[in-house]
Amino acid sequence: VLSQRLTQVKQLIPHDTKVLADIGSDHAQLPCYICLERPSMKAIAGEVNEGPKQAAINQVTQFGLSDQIDVRLGDGLSVIERGEADCITIAGMGGSLISSILTDGQDKLSGDELLILQPNIDANLIRRFAVDNQFVINYETVLQEDGYYYEILVLTKSAQPVNYTERELYLGPLMLQQPNQAFREKWSSVYQNQQDIIQNMKQAKVPNQEKIEQFEQELHWIKEALS
Ligand code: SAM
Repeated sequence: VLSQRLTQVKQLIPHDTKVLADIGSDHAQLPCYICLERPSMKAIAGEVNEGPKQAAINQVTQFGLSDQIDVRLGDGLSVIERGEADCITIAGMGGSLISSILTDGQDKLSGDELLILQPNIDANLIRRFAVDNQFVINYETVLQEDGYYYEILVLTKSAQPVNYTERELYLGPLMLQQPNQAFREKWSSVYQNQQDIIQNMKQAKVPNQEKIEQFEQELHWIKEALS
């Protein structure tokens, strides 16, 4: 069965999607489950590593989906032609890796595709990528599964420059407007941890004042968002 995390990503793939590219697909679970539901859809499962690529091929073969899903070996967006996919999913990695895959693969983006991104950590780096590259965040959510918190963001190219405040980059502009239960739980837990970290940092022989101030600013943003 598909995890809650990937199920939520799958539900965000628009019904009129013709070609999905799932980058860092590992066992190609997401393309397999969506193609089973939508027989007229095509998908590309991209993998940079040989082992997961083989796992993807095995899974696609077992599901009898070889006509619908093309498994390709390569780094990030290098496996697709520009504009080939109308929806791109990148899930289960850190925000840093996801944003570098998008930055390195800019020439493969036509500007018409929907990006569904699911960072395990550092979602703020994806929001930073959005601002730097003129993408707007259309949807974002936080979910909890097996004790871990995950974020999902949906981005599209914007006609106008995009601006988010530092606070919005940190917590999410849409989550700030409509926080859900998982968002509250996640940030309450970060708040507790960060308070302890600041206490420890203050006790260092030479406290890193700049870092302490940044963390205190973040604590303030979290407190505001949870009140
Ligand atoms: N997307 C699946 C999910 O959400 O469950 C698999 C996530 S798995 C933790 C991350 C996968 O990304 C690994 O199989 C890894 O080989 C692949 N990967 C890492 N860097 C990549 C890159 N630059 N291009 C393509 N795949 C990459």
